[in-house]
Amino acid sequence: MLNDVWQNFLSIIREEAGSRVVETWLKAVKLHKWDADQKTIVVEAPNKFVKDWIQAKYTTLFQVHLARLLHVDTIKITFYSSSEMADSSTSLVPLTFPLQNKKIPGKVKNALAHKTTKNYGRLNPLYQFENFVVGPSNSLAYAAACSIAQDPGEQYNPFFIYGGSGLGKTHLLHAIGNAIQKRDSKSVVFYQTTDRFVNEFISAIRFNKVHVFQQKYRMIDVLLIDDIQFISNKEQTQEAFFHIFNSLYDGRKQIVFSSDVFPRDIKGLEERLCSRLEWGLAADVHKPHLETKIAILKRKAQLHHEDLPDDIAEFIAQEVVSNVRELEGSLVRILAFASLTKQPLSIELAQKVLQRDGVPQKTTAVDFDRIAACVCRHYSYRLSDLRSNSRAKDLSFARQLAMYLMKKMTSRSLREIGSFLGRKDHSTVIHAFDRVEENVQKDSTLRTTIKRLEEEILR
Ligand code: ADP
Ligand code: MG
Repeated sequence: MLNDVWQNFLSIIREEAGSRVVETWLKAVKLHKWDADQKTIVVEAPNKFVKDWIQAKYTTLFQVHLARLLHVDTIKITFYSSSEMADSSTSLVPLTFPLQNKKIPGKVKNALAHKTTKNYGRLNPLYQFENFVVGPSNSLAYAAACSIAQDPGEQYNPFFIYGGSGLGKTHLLHAIGNAIQKRDSKSVVFYQTTDRFVNEFISAIRFNKVHVFQQKYRMIDVLLIDDIQFISNKEQTQEAFFHIFNSLYDGRKQIVFSSDVFPRDIKGLEERLCSRLEWGLAADVHKPHLETKIAILKRKAQLHHEDLPDDIAEFIAQEVVSNVRELEGSLVRILAFASLTKQPLSIELAQKVLQRDGVPQKTTAVDFDRIAACVCRHYSYRLSDLRSNSRAKDLSFARQLAMYLMKKMTSRSLREIGSFLGRKDHSTVIHAFDRVEENVQKDSTLRTTIKRLEEEILR
């Protein structure tokens, strides 16, 4: 009967608080005993951490729903953790673990290190400082990363790299790790994506392995966390991470984060964690300029043992405006096409491949009127609406989209674009472009809309 009550309770909570709460926390506990005389229910949690968490956050939910399901007016809930009961001098590792006080024996550390790298903390050997092309768009991030690799934990801690997708953040994270490990193979460097970190934490809770989880992070010398923005709105994981952060930081262990935005702009990030992330140095990466793009293309071609002529490199660099990942992808397709069709590399060939890829050609045949007309038709606005100063949300977005397409599809200046759309200044156009690009990363519907608009404009 108790089991039925518990299953009913879980389905109610799934409805009310969402299945993540159930999967992460409630499935880890069970109803131990129901004392009908005392109207007391005893809930057993696998460890103190889970017990404290559930007690702090979900007691009211337990009281309200269990009372109803057990047909009583009020109910008393007693939480206990099985490990506490089994041994009062419990071996539970507290979530905050003062690193500097606890020396982990070398042998244990090596074994753990081996296990860690064998899991998913492996560094990608292709991402090195030597093959990272430096230009004005990434020089600060690069310089800071090199200096951290020289002196981990000493200078900039934590180090926070942020910027748009495909601009080299992951590459730099791995490069830091690779450089440190090359110099000191005993150093435990651990690369982790935030997604995996979150999943790992959830499964640690589920399977009562929080102490193993903690121990693993405790012995790390350099922690590289990629895409920390994905921790947004994950309250429990943020809590665990906050403590891991503090311990590593106190132990002067180097922590490096990457994110698509600055900590303050990560939505749903707890204030105290946000301020931790901002403690050290933050450096952003931008889209590379033409010269850097050409240098990147030449370097990447070299890695494929190809010699890329300057004019072709310049042509590709001019055509691909989005990011380095796209640039690299376009190059690989061009090289593959040339090799498969046994044709020499040429601008015509590159043009053919890029056109097929759907990278729109910058052409003077596309003019502002045509772009504006297509955007207006799509969103049912008039040109005068686009040119107005109205900040109505939908209209603003349509205007920004027009600016985006004008910048992407024509070679006209920002000033000209701004002036065509009702005397907006160039910074408004840059802002619009960045905003649309940011949304494009996240929103597949918008990607489809843009593709359709581009096709229509070029038709
Ligand atoms: P992000 O993590 O910012 O989304 P990545 O680090 O995954 O971007 O980079 C995408 C691709 O572009 C990778 O293959 C990376 O090697 C390459 N790349 C990015 N910036 C550079 C650069 N400055 N020099 C060489 N390769 C780069
Ligand atoms: Mg990345």
